[in-house]
Amino acid sequence: MVYLKTDDEIELLRASNDLVGKTLAEVAKYIKPGVSTKQLDTIAEEFIRDNGAIPTFKGYPNQNRVPFSGSICTSVNDVVVHGIPSDKVFLKDGDIISVDCGTLLNGFCGDSAYTFCVGEVAPEVKKLLDVTKQSLYLGIEQAVPGKRIGDIGNAIQNHCQSNGYGVVREFVGHGIGKEMHEDPPVPNYGAAGRGMMLKNGLCIAIEPMITMGVRNIYMEHDGWTVRTVDHKPAAHFEHTIAVRPCGALILSSFKYIEEVLNSNQ
Ligand code: MG
Ligand code: MG
Repeated sequence: MVYLKTDDEIELLRASNDLVGKTLAEVAKYIKPGVSTKQLDTIAEEFIRDNGAIPTFKGYPNQNRVPFSGSICTSVNDVVVHGIPSDKVFLKDGDIISVDCGTLLNGFCGDSAYTFCVGEVAPEVKKLLDVTKQSLYLGIEQAVPGKRIGDIGNAIQNHCQSNGYGVVREFVGHGIGKEMHEDPPVPNYGAAGRGMMLKNGLCIAIEPMITMGVRNIYMEHDGWTVRTVDHKPAAHFEHTIAVRPCGALILSSFKYIEEVLNSNQ
């Protein structure tokens, strides 16, 4: 069931997603060698609750009803998504870490992710991050009325594969609203002109998960952590957007994050 949102509902979604952007920026301030992913989780949870929201990931059940223990997903290097914050995982110089964050504010969900560099990262890994982020915006460009879900995935897939990267298929983007995961699924691959027609008021999270090597992944026994089979790095960027008459309106924001990253340089 796809729920198209009203203008008022889109404003509420924007507020929740804006808080996600600010939370990711708060986390960004602490991303450096020696920090544990659990420390980042504590910073995020406090920030979300201090702003009157709930971290939607905390306690979220997987298929086997195992609740996620963190407030953010912290996915380091070959972890593609759903890395569990841990006091045993410490960031090292040269790592990359995807931080995925979700909030519930005034009844509406925010969902956005950004992959960060820790210290000095190899140029080929930086390129993976750049291309993945570019592919997110190419996908967003397709999110206009009259286009179809497949146009989004096709744009992402073409850009990433033409750079020699793999596109994860087992996990996809999604509709978003009062629930974090609504219909429709939004794959990062597909055929142009296929799939559901995009309409004004459709709100979706677009989230390319892109691998440096093969696209194949496996899940660890914890039921959450998703890794590349070849243990090469993976990147993940996510925006929540609304389809509007004149194009895609990005409801989440990387502006706050990039202010922090630029002030560190
Ligand atoms: Mg997310
Ligand atoms: Mg999502």
